[in-house]
Parts: sequence; structure tokens; C-alpha cells
Amino acid sequence: MNKIETKLVKAGEEILDEAAELLKSGGIAAVPTETVYGLAANAYNVNAVRAVFEAKGRPQDNPLILHICSTAMLYDIAASVPELAVKLAESFWPGPLTMIFPRKPHVPAETCGGLDTAAVRMPRSKFTLALIERCGFPLAAPSANTSGLPSPTSAKHVYEDMNGRIPLIIDGGECRYGVESTVVCFEGIDTVRILRPGAVTPEMLREYCHVVIDSGVLEKLDADAKVISPGMKYKHYSPNAEVYIVKGTDETIVEFLEDMNVNRTGYLGFGSEALPENVTAFPYGRTAEEQAENLFSSLREADGAGCAEVYVRMPDTAGIGLAVYNRLLRSAGFRVIDTCK
Ligand code: AMP
Ligand code: MG
Repeated sequence: MNKIETKLVKAGEEILDEAAELLKSGGIAAVPTETVYGLAANAYNVNAVRAVFEAKGRPQDNPLILHICSTAMLYDIAASVPELAVKLAESFWPGPLTMIFPRKPHVPAETCGGLDTAAVRMPRSKFTLALIERCGFPLAAPSANTSGLPSPTSAKHVYEDMNGRIPLIIDGGECRYGVESTVVCFEGIDTVRILRPGAVTPEMLREYCHVVIDSGVLEKLDADAKVISPGMKYKHYSPNAEVYIVKGTDETIVEFLEDMNVNRTGYLGFGSEALPENVTAFPYGRTAEEQAENLFSSLREADGAGCAEVYVRMPDTAGIGLAVYNRLLRSAGFRVIDTCK
């Protein structure tokens, strides 16, 4: 791919027109959302969508999420909208919930990874909502990272991956949640299946319906497995460093790290561990919210610091912790070390 000049600008009224014109003419741009940064294109323009796949190096069968700014846009995409979806949209949109619907024929198959369904969400970023409105079409926007790397939670992360590959990065500050949206599909009239956990937690969804957590959320899937959500089968969210999940107490984990005795070891922990000198700590935290916010950026930081191995403390899986654990399992290639054994 030929190198192009990448402009990095702050989100605001001043850039709205230019960004909208770029997207209307089939261009692509990175935009802020409350989950992670997205790499946006006109969801109805096949060539623009192809450019997104190319810039990311994303497998063609991994569908994109369509970002909307109004319910009218939802009805332009979805062939049918269950009553439960209307209820969930009222409660969680704009916000980090993506719902899957049968798609109308005019929605390009390329956008949806060849599936006959489309994933739709209304993001909360005021700038990005205004941009979608100005465009008048939904924006297909996967995370704005090179495929396989940790998702970008700041414009700086996007720049690391996309400099020279896309014309425009819009800086809306650090993402509030730090993990991608919750993805659900519908089963019958009163059940959702969580295909990817996120900030809209199973506990929150259970206020409205039955909730099934797909086995792919915490289990390893074969590369050729038939899955509802193709994104779940790919190696994902991995820095260059080798990532391992460590289970145990402060003491057993510290003892394990001391025994490792290798240089350039990174660690993401609760902050209560008395770490040996050869280990570099990166921000993580004790609460699931902090861990979600810090996980991807700390994995990138550990790479920047030249760590060959990064150990990440096992998170609690309640609330948004399920999303943290789901991403972490994939970045660690499902390697969990129990230091109590
Ligand atoms: P990303 O764009 O990186 O946030 O990834 C989007 C996620 O949504 C991937 O895991 C996709 O597999 C999933 N997804 C998008 N569209 C669909 C769809 N139509 N059916 C099932 N999963 C989808
Ligand atoms: Mg992604």
C-alpha cells in the first residue's frame, strides 16, 4: 500500500464538515467512541468498506458493526426489529450495546462479512453522532487498530497503527470504557445471546430478558469452527510480547515472578504486589472498570518498553470483568498459569 499523509486533528465543530465530506466521497477516517476508536467508512459503499478491511489487514469474513445516530437508520438497515430490541435500544442507546438483525438487501454483504445479518449500534460520542448525522448514512467502523493488535483507546494508539495508511484521525481523548461494545443476537422473543461481552453487562441485560453467554466468550474455538460471530475465532488483542494470565495471591504471584528471573518482564496487577526489581509494572488496577480502561493501553505500553513477556493478573469476571477476561484470554492465547499449584 502506498504511504499517504495522515492528519491528526482534535474532535470539534471545525472538523465536522471536512470529515463528513471525506466519508461521503468514499474515504475512511478514525473516529472516537466511548468504547475504543473506530475506523469509519460509509457502510453502504462497498469500495469504502474494502478500504477499511485493507487498512486494518482484517479477514474479509469478519463483519463490521454499523454505527447509527437515529432509530430511522436502524429501520433502514434491519429487515425486522424484535420488540425486545426496541426495549434494549431505549435503555442502552446511545451506548456500548451492539445488536444483530437480519439485514435488508441493500446493505452490502461485504460490510457484513458475507452474512445475511447486520450488527448495529448507536455510539455515545457526541462528535461521532454528529458526524453520522452530517453524513446521512451509517458508518461501518471496526476498531481502528491493525488486525490482531490490541484495540486503540487513544488517538495516539491509532496513529501508531494507521500512520501512512489513512488520511484522517480525529482525536476525541481517551475512550471511557476501553473495551469494545457488548455484541448480542436474539433468540425467541425474550432471550439474548452474548457473543462478545462489554460494558453492557449480563447483569444489566438480565433486568430486561433471559441472557445466554455463548461458549465462545470464554472457550477457545477452532479456526474452522462454525461460529455466529466470526470475530471470536481470530487471534486478537495481542501485543508483540508474549502474554500470560497469572492466577494466585499477591505472595504466590510475586514468588513466581522472582523465580522467572528474566529481564524485560512486564506485569499488570492490582497494585498490592511487592514486585521484584526485574519486573516492570504497567497500569491495570483492582476494579473491573479500571482494568477495562487500562488493559489495551498497558499491553501497548509494555511493547513500547520492549518487554518480551507480560504477565497479567487474573481479573474478577463480574460486571465488565467478563469483557476484560474475554479480551485477555485471546491476547494470552488462553494461557493461564496458576501460581498456587
Ligand atoms: P470490531 O469491529 O473489531 O469491534 O469487531 C466487531 C465484532 O462484531 C466482531 O467480533 C464481529 O464478528 C461481530 N459482528 C459484526 N457483525 C456481525 C454479524 N452480522 N453477526 C455476528 N457477529 C457480528
Ligand atoms: Mg477489533
